[in-house]
Amino acid sequence: MNNAKILAERREFIGEGARGKSIACEKNSASGAVSQRACVYCGARVVLNPVTDAFHIVHGPIGCASYTWDIRGSLTSGSELFRNSFSTDLQEKDIVFGGAAKLAAAIEEVAETYRPKLIFVYATCIAGVIGDDVGAVCRAAEEKFGLRCIAVQSSGFSGTKSFGYRLACDALMELILPHKRPAGTRGLGVNILGDYNLAGEMWIIENYMRRIGVPVVATITGDAAYETLIKAPTARLNLVQCAGSMSYLAKRMEEELGIPFMKISFFGVEDTSASLLRVAQAAGGGEIVRRAERFTAEQEKKTNAVTAPYKKHLAGKKAAIFVGGGFKAISLIRQFNAMGMETVLVGTQTGQPEDYEIISGLVGPDAVILDDANPSELEAFMQEKGAQILVGGVKERPLAFKLGVAFCDHNHERKHALAGYEGVINFTREVHLSMNSPVWGYVSG
Ligand code: SF4
Repeated sequence: MNNAKILAERREFIGEGARGKSIACEKNSASGAVSQRACVYCGARVVLNPVTDAFHIVHGPIGCASYTWDIRGSLTSGSELFRNSFSTDLQEKDIVFGGAAKLAAAIEEVAETYRPKLIFVYATCIAGVIGDDVGAVCRAAEEKFGLRCIAVQSSGFSGTKSFGYRLACDALMELILPHKRPAGTRGLGVNILGDYNLAGEMWIIENYMRRIGVPVVATITGDAAYETLIKAPTARLNLVQCAGSMSYLAKRMEEELGIPFMKISFFGVEDTSASLLRVAQAAGGGEIVRRAERFTAEQEKKTNAVTAPYKKHLAGKKAAIFVGGGFKAISLIRQFNAMGMETVLVGTQTGQPEDYEIISGLVGPDAVILDDANPSELEAFMQEKGAQILVGGVKERPLAFKLGVAFCDHNHERKHALAGYEGVINFTREVHLSMNSPVWGYVSG
């Protein structure tokens, strides 16, 4: 691995092969490194935004609201309200004299016009700098209008994107906790945490649960609604898909509501089948396990029959991965391994030490592993390792195309499902079409 182009402050965040398991992570980005991470506010907004019937009011300049407007490709089976973006549009005068009155007026307008049950109010950098008491405005609105109005103190500069996830989890706890049930009154259902119903992925998972006979109580937050969220304390188990964003909520729900949790992943055949079998065991065993065994065997056979012809064209090729959380990176490496491809570069925005330990055991000895990368590092290592496809999000797409390599969007803007067995077929087909496109013969990388 050539370290020549790497800032000295970044070296501890990068490792190769087995050394990748002990890289630094969960730290603030190095100043001047142009991190690929989003801000605290964005982290909070992406977790809460899929709550379909909530009003999301952004207390800040209009740019913060437009930056995250309809940020996820989350689908809804009910209200479309969440697809709007409301802002107090703070101006210079508000910054000098304070914006709290403007926020109170915005909440009043929403409360009186739409009579909502739930409003999330996000404090942005400017609200944090001028010191508006967003919490006090929200509490006063709850009393005045008899609704839930929850402040999310998410000034963009106040930490990392992971801190935003944590603030979103705190906001969800504030909503759920008053609906705590006495021990012994829980049903047989599960909550699904950390799936955001991108392109209908939550519906795919809910369908699997129905097929094996496990009821779903609340989905957090893909296709969530106020009335289903407040029933979450009646579940007996939490299933955590995106551990990076939802482990904190799962731990709080375990400690404060007595609901245990289990980490699962519905990306890739191996992880999907293993997750369904583990859920079936935890949900009571017996007939549920037998159904899960039958269902997974049947789905694996069908999926492998569809993906086999593509694999011939993918075997031996090299992939780079840069995604938000560790759980997705791990599932992607397994999917590439199953296709006969080699992962030569893998990084995440918010990975945790245990994620990097697993990742280092799944890749080869020369693979680069990095936390909180910047474009210059991604470029240098992709070229050095000969990556032929980059899997990432909207910020990584131009980099791949400028380097003349294929790209696969695995971020929250995408419009195609990549979860479950259906997702494996979509992913394999997309990787094949992108990598084996004749266009790469006409560009020089
Ligand atoms: S909260 Fe701050 S960092 Fe985030 S979008 Fe707004 S101004 Fe930018």
